[in-house]
Amino acid sequence: MTNGVPLAADADPFTPARRRMVEEQLRARGIRDRRVLDAMGAVPRHAFVDPGYHARAYGDHALPSEQGQTISQPYIVARMLELAELEATHRVLEIGTGTGYQTALLARLADRVYSVERVPSLVRGADQRLRALGVSNVILRHGDGTIGWQEFAPYDRVLVAAAAPRVPESLRAQLAEPGVLVIPVGGEERQHLEVWRREPSGRWEGRRYGECRFVPLLGRDAWPDPPPTIE
Ligand code: SAH
Repeated sequence: MTNGVPLAADADPFTPARRRMVEEQLRARGIRDRRVLDAMGAVPRHAFVDPGYHARAYGDHALPSEQGQTISQPYIVARMLELAELEATHRVLEIGTGTGYQTALLARLADRVYSVERVPSLVRGADQRLRALGVSNVILRHGDGTIGWQEFAPYDRVLVAAAAPRVPESLRAQLAEPGVLVIPVGGEERQHLEVWRREPSGRWEGRRYGECRFVPLLGRDAWPDPPPTIE
């Protein structure tokens, strides 16, 4: 008998790639929130992309998902989560479920996640993946997230994962006091992450962070649906 290294039967072959992602793309670029780093080290990102992209799932880039949408670059996801200053007791509204990857991360970082997606097939796909991973504190909904989700408001945190021309009014209105809203705002080509903090007094404070590039937020209080320019 040789002295081989024992292997767990359910070992995830992507664990080393995920660790590298956390070290080289997140920690090396200044992501410091311990809980965000742990969550990104734990959630299997490859489970949210097409098997054809598994080998690239932990790369330093966005990847295509269904319906011409994207799963954001790991660093941008981590940056948004860090800026949101999530706590384990929080109720979170997410706009733009997409593959459900960020939803799965939010589910680890907060108490309850309410997530809205405008493309029905994406809602179904995300629902299947989240169930398969045993995530149970998430409620998904098909609809226009620019009008928020009044039923469960107010939310301690609101995260928008698509590019908006401005902060939709309903999302402001559905944020708790205190509360934090994170959203990419700008043109179609590039945006900046904006963080809007609602103080207990009701006063608003906004801050602008680094540049990013998201697919457009399409809906009643954002870009018209379908998008304004097709090249
Ligand atoms: N965070 C996702 C990626 C989001 S991509 C992930 O981890 O996979 C942006 C998503 O926002 C797309 O799926 C797009 O369909 C959705 N979207 C665009 N406009 C929307 C709207 N008004 N309401 C809800 N979802 C919207």
